[in-house]
Amino acid sequence: MSLGSLLQRSLIILPFFYLTSTHAQTADTVFTANGNPVFRHKFTADPAAMVYKDKVYIYTGHDVAPEKRNGYEMHEWLCFSTSDMQTFTEHPSPLNVKAFKWAKDDAWASQVIERNGKFYWFVAISHDSTHRGKAIGVAVSDKPTGPFTDAIGAALITNDMTKESKISWDDIDPTVFIDDNKQAYLFWGNTTLHYVKLKENMTEMDGPMQTISLPHFTEAPWVHKKNGWYYLSYAYEFPEKIAYAMSRSIEGPWEYKGIINEIAGNCNTNHQAIIEFKGKDYFIYHNTRSSDSTKKYSPHITDSSTPRLLLT
Ligand code: CA
Repeated sequence: MSLGSLLQRSLIILPFFYLTSTHAQTADTVFTANGNPVFRHKFTADPAAMVYKDKVYIYTGHDVAPEKRNGYEMHEWLCFSTSDMQTFTEHPSPLNVKAFKWAKDDAWASQVIERNGKFYWFVAISHDSTHRGKAIGVAVSDKPTGPFTDAIGAALITNDMTKESKISWDDIDPTVFIDDNKQAYLFWGNTTLHYVKLKENMTEMDGPMQTISLPHFTEAPWVHKKNGWYYLSYAYEFPEKIAYAMSRSIEGPWEYKGIINEIAGNCNTNHQAIIEFKGKDYFIYHNTRSSDSTKKYSPHITDSSTPRLLLT
């Protein structure tokens, strides 16, 4: 998400179940999705999905901003799992901004990836006053459902490490990818798209930061590979569509291919995740179900039988 959407809040009518859902959850709960959006009981922004063994894990932010407040209020991330994309288990929140002692607040977009039996959660978060602006941190756990702890004790990326943009929120929206040769990459950015190699420990950069130029790049990169092609999808323009580029190499050059998701209703952002699970491709994104364009309700899940998912 970007700061632009913070300015577009309007009147909101909160359903009762939302008002009761801000209490901390202490045990797993199970529910069956009734079509899209699949999550309706909380504002769950920025879905990132991970396939691990026989399940899909969906990680989201959690917006608890009260009615009429202009802006997001996000202190924790949420974790859902499913074996069939129909019945979901919501696990107790595995990660709170308080886990990062150097951070101020704002549980923004994130992604979890597994390596060598550990789970690494890359998050966008506001740094404290020692580094102005947004930053990227990494948390780690032995289980996909956590609990997660700060893997570094400091930010991996701070705003002052990237100079291409003068805005304070250009270092957000981390996405991670491990190539077939086991080399890991971190992509991130708002208005400028960055990437860097990561060492095997997933907590240190392994070389210089690079930038990628793509048409109308806004934010929300996501990288996946299928049938020998690398796909880099991202938020295009603002309000955001989702576009994608393809390459034969994870380090490019990337060829722009077009739009795969239009503006999501009255929501300024989509924040997609793309996974393959049990033989189907899934496009998972958020939109808003309320009259307030800054509130995210989803994810929506679209499978590969939908013609607009043109990835192969
Ligand atoms: Ca920066």
